[in-house]
Amino acid sequence: MPDRLAGAAPSGGADAVPANVPAPRTLTTGEVLALDRQHVWHPYGPMPGRQEPLVIASASGVRLRLAEPAEGHTELVDGMASWWSAIHGYNHPVLNEAAQAQLGRMSHVMFGGLTHEPAVRLAARLVEITPEPLQHVFLADSGSVSVEVAVKMCLQYWRSAGRPGKQRLLTWRGGYHGDTWQPMAVCDPDGGMHRLWSGVLPQQIFADAPPAGFGAEPDAAYEAHLRELIGRHADELAAVIVEPVVQGAGGMRFHSPGYLRVLREACDEHGVLLVLDEIATGFGRTGALFAAEHAGISPDVMCLGKALTGGYLTMAATLCTSRVAEGISRGEVPMLAHGPTFMGNPLAAAVSEASIDLLLAHDWQQEVKRIEAGLRDGLAGALELPGVRDVRVLGAIGVVQLDHEADMEAATRAAVCEGVWLRPFRDLLYTMPPYITGDDDVARICAAVRSAATAG
Ligand code: PMP
Repeated sequence: MPDRLAGAAPSGGADAVPANVPAPRTLTTGEVLALDRQHVWHPYGPMPGRQEPLVIASASGVRLRLAEPAEGHTELVDGMASWWSAIHGYNHPVLNEAAQAQLGRMSHVMFGGLTHEPAVRLAARLVEITPEPLQHVFLADSGSVSVEVAVKMCLQYWRSAGRPGKQRLLTWRGGYHGDTWQPMAVCDPDGGMHRLWSGVLPQQIFADAPPAGFGAEPDAAYEAHLRELIGRHADELAAVIVEPVVQGAGGMRFHSPGYLRVLREACDEHGVLLVLDEIATGFGRTGALFAAEHAGISPDVMCLGKALTGGYLTMAATLCTSRVAEGISRGEVPMLAHGPTFMGNPLAAAVSEASIDLLLAHDWQQEVKRIEAGLRDGLAGALELPGVRDVRVLGAIGVVQLDHEADMEAATRAAVCEGVWLRPFRDLLYTMPPYITGDDDVARICAAVRSAATAG
């Protein structure tokens, strides 16, 4: 009997590529824009989009290279680190090497029933660098999914403990946790972009927003408010979930780490789990490796994402304590029913480990402090500008808040005129540049923020 596979191409190697696979044709910038407008959704946008996006041809270090010049610039200094993620800048040789080496082995295999070195090494590394009680790692494929998993873990923990009534969440106003269903339900219910869904989303419990100021003396009345609310709802609360120290996309506000200690104490006192969403704050952004360290506390569940892969690929992680994991595994359904197709993706895992090694090999704290000093210097003058309500800096995060909604198009154009990429939202002009951004480029970013602040 003929072997049907006998003539098959060997696995791997050029012989396996059929001769008739067309090489993709390079599109002109005009074609990219036309197809983009016709078919492609962009974040938080209508279809078709209102504002024409800039076309990026490549990126390297802290510079985004434009396919066609804009406002006289062929490249822009990146003030956004691709939404907190590209902490080492773009096209980094160490991360490229990690991706390429892994690509030669396998880009993906399913994680059910199989395992591999990149995922295992990454999980062990995350356990090593996060607070000690966090021992178990669920590798998810985006920040929002890691929050979904965190919520599922908490609800299931109480279900397994015979307390199915504990299924609500408490958070404080002004937060942001992602765009899928459970995360949307704990985003700020009024100012946030998900208020369209109030009444449809599960109804969670909201404390007032934490009083502003990282260095501000904790407000005793606010602490009492947190304690009272957690105590009052303890029987129905599975978990408290917050962003520690910095509330990001909900308003770029900073608060005292003291409130995190209060949450930890109140959760312990009343039998409620504490979830810290470190998706934006993790990996050094606030000056501590994880923002929970400012408070000296450890959560029961922690979400990581964004800078996890150095901005190369999409991967996130939900870490939990042995108490949570064992609690779930003792239950009537002794497993966590979650398993994304791309769970543990080896490419993303390999790059993540390289990104963590790269971060820790540097004096990253010094780098973040240097950027913090540059942002303080460069943004201080913004307070004198008309229409500016507040200027705040923490770690490698700089924020200028206006007393009105920014004209996004005018503000973006003003920054591009300065040769800088910024993406304002609501009344906020802000920057969280890659940690490798040099002093001159930090100064340039600040000039662009000031210029954007007066643009509309
Ligand atoms: N939590 C926080 C604190 C975030 O800043 C974000 C992303 N902006 C998310 C969750 C959601 O992550 P993702 O966009 O990867 O789904």
